[in-house]
Amino acid sequence: MKLRFAPSPTGYLHVGGLRTALFNYLLARQSGGTFLLRIEDTDQSRRVEGAVENLIDSLRWAGIDYDEGPEKDQGNGPYFQSQRLEIYMQFVEELLAADHAYPCFCTSERLDQLRKEQQSRNLQTRYDGLCRALDREAAHTRMQTEAHVIRMKIPQNEILEFEDLVRGRIKYPLNQIDDQILLKADRFPTYHLANVVDDHLMGVDTVVRGEEWLPSTPKHILLYRYLGWELPEFAHLPLLLNPDRSKLSKRQGDVAVEDYRDRGFLPAALINFVALLGWNPGDDRELFEIDELIKTFSLERVNKAGAVFDLEKLNWMNGQYIRQLSDERYLQLSRAEVPEIQLPDSAFLAVRTSLNTWQDLARALEIFRRDSFEPEGEEARKMLELESSRQVFRSFLDGLAESDLNAADFRALMKRIQKETGVKGKFLWMPMRIALTGQTHGPELPFIVETFGPDKVRERLNIALGQ
Ligand code: GLU
Repeated sequence: MKLRFAPSPTGYLHVGGLRTALFNYLLARQSGGTFLLRIEDTDQSRRVEGAVENLIDSLRWAGIDYDEGPEKDQGNGPYFQSQRLEIYMQFVEELLAADHAYPCFCTSERLDQLRKEQQSRNLQTRYDGLCRALDREAAHTRMQTEAHVIRMKIPQNEILEFEDLVRGRIKYPLNQIDDQILLKADRFPTYHLANVVDDHLMGVDTVVRGEEWLPSTPKHILLYRYLGWELPEFAHLPLLLNPDRSKLSKRQGDVAVEDYRDRGFLPAALINFVALLGWNPGDDRELFEIDELIKTFSLERVNKAGAVFDLEKLNWMNGQYIRQLSDERYLQLSRAEVPEIQLPDSAFLAVRTSLNTWQDLARALEIFRRDSFEPEGEEARKMLELESSRQVFRSFLDGLAESDLNAADFRALMKRIQKETGVKGKFLWMPMRIALTGQTHGPELPFIVETFGPDKVRERLNIALGQ
């Protein structure tokens, strides 16, 4: 299979774009095919400085690697549409010669006027075909000297049918569609022409993209027909929605991949999360590393219905990924997030299970940075006062003399105390936690103890005993 991701560089990579890139990538890797990146930058008015670099950086961060495209061997490139203008020109000429396209001389004033008239009469706004009716030869002569665009002829009396790998059979009455502009007055092609020409010339056989492009597909299919080219397969991915089911938008939260990077998400977690936006494995598994996604993914299991972007789930998932890191990698990544915090490894290890994202790190580490604290809440205070708790503290202090109190020592000591005192479970562990941190829940106790070391542990247990 040959697949592609064909973004217009708008300044950042949208999470919806990441999903499109991912699904294409998965299919390419699964089939042993090729995945290419093509920059669709023909809209000169929407150029954004640094947009391409940003896009490539975001893909790289997410681990989505492409085989052909910018910064790679050229294959069928160049992969910037702005560098392919002559190529598109050839096909404009071919379409003109075959009378599938015509020059349109209508000024923007005329088109504005037309739109207003149609709006005031409650009609669908569309091009009225004025220039389509011009004498062909005369029009082609005028083209030499007059400003114009090139429009494609859309047959008005056909219902176009095609197969979509996600949505099934689709019927589209062509009289709903305007004579699409293919070449603009600035001699740049529109998306439709450039996209079809490139997909064909670059050998793309499967087009996987967002549902917002579905209404463009009939125009594309007509272009394939006019140019005598074999059709690729099409798959349109469902929209991404906010929890209130409106279209995912910047207003309701972050949509740029870089925002998630900056907010302390792991790329593998974000990838796992977007993979499940509109796709499911058919069972209730939710955690998929990239290799498993490559094995399991299929377009058959992509839904038609919009997919809700549930930030809580992403948070949870990221927490799972943080727990799965090797200790070494975890320490490396977490320390890099808060270089200003100097604490031993055991402190970082202690808070690991209470993190969803790296943003939680500084607050979680606070218990190691405060000097004194009060037990938080009634439950904590009562627990400290139980006779069994005091017994545990006393035994612990007795046992402490012989221990350096690393995490393993601590576990062994607690086991011994359980045997000696008969106190177990919650009544054994919770008072220790409260005495040491003031809290009933929190980071992993063995690592807390290791971080504090015997002196601080002794001090806090003595305070808890009122001594
Ligand atoms: N340039 C379009 C975009 O920005 C590509 C759509 C397509 O994949 O055909 O998404």
